[in-house]
Amino acid sequence: MSRVFSGIQPSGELHIGNYLGAVKNWAAIQHRHPSFFCVVDYHAITVAYDPAQLRQRTRDLALTLFAAGLDPAVCHVFVQSTVPEHTELQWIFNTVTPLGELERQTQFKDKAQRQEQVMAGLLNYPVLQAADILLYRADVVPVGEDQVQHLELSRVIARNWNARFGEYFPEPQPLLTPTRRIVGLDGQAKMSKSMQNTIGLLDDAETTWARLRPAVTDPQRVRKTDPGRPEVCNVFALHGAFSDAATQADVATRCRTAAWGCMDCKKVLHEAMERELVPIRTRAQALRDEPQRLDDALADGTRYARAAARETIAHVKDAMGLAPAG
Ligand code: SF4
Repeated sequence: MSRVFSGIQPSGELHIGNYLGAVKNWAAIQHRHPSFFCVVDYHAITVAYDPAQLRQRTRDLALTLFAAGLDPAVCHVFVQSTVPEHTELQWIFNTVTPLGELERQTQFKDKAQRQEQVMAGLLNYPVLQAADILLYRADVVPVGEDQVQHLELSRVIARNWNARFGEYFPEPQPLLTPTRRIVGLDGQAKMSKSMQNTIGLLDDAETTWARLRPAVTDPQRVRKTDPGRPEVCNVFALHGAFSDAATQADVATRCRTAAWGCMDCKKVLHEAMERELVPIRTRAQALRDEPQRLDDALADGTRYARAAARETIAHVKDAMGLAPAG
């Protein structure tokens, strides 16, 4: 059966864009495939950061992933830096990765422009990403559209290594998430913490409503009596993620016929969001109350991941004429 790997950076509190665009899909996939889900803290240190904040964010993210539906009895959730084979394989892959392929990566160019000094880790980031995936010989990777280019590089690296040392690594294929791009509450940019256009996954009901209330809707709907266009409205897109089909159809009709105002529409959305988010908040609180459960779940994930990783590294080192682990 196809193995799945996906990683997420501990770059701040998880928001509903992360949830709808990735984590909700992972929670469904875990029941269909052997799955490895990783908090990729090594990826978070390629730009300036605060160590204490990284430690806290890593733990908070792991807690949120379990609260959002990843089940430690079903899938393997772990922190990247607890499995040192990730960086071991990255070094090996550096030796079969053409420099030109790295320099062409658009994410590198974008991020490098924003740095005063560009570190080599930023350039080599996609090689670590290839190591993350191929360490578990994963053949399916749930990704957003902006990650497809990195995945293509993972296939190049797998091909190059296989051509030189024998067929071993699969060429991982992307699995695009059903909810592809979540636009922020400003109705403009992708939902992102840095754009301040998000709703936190663990925000309480009042905060969620305070964020949703002023959200941008169809700009042509100036008065309540103006018919609206749900197809251009971001609030309607969120109904698509949280409301059932009958509610979505009702919302679209009421909008097009000016039968209600945007605030009524947002209230119905808020109720639908609460139905889905309350159980997540409750599980998060339970994990905060019993931190040992979080530690145990992560330790189990690491144990399983390391066993799989050691198997891969043993094969790779043998095929390449490197000395086995002592
Ligand atoms: Fe958007 Fe709802 Fe307002 Fe229509 S009624 S424009 S779908 S918020």
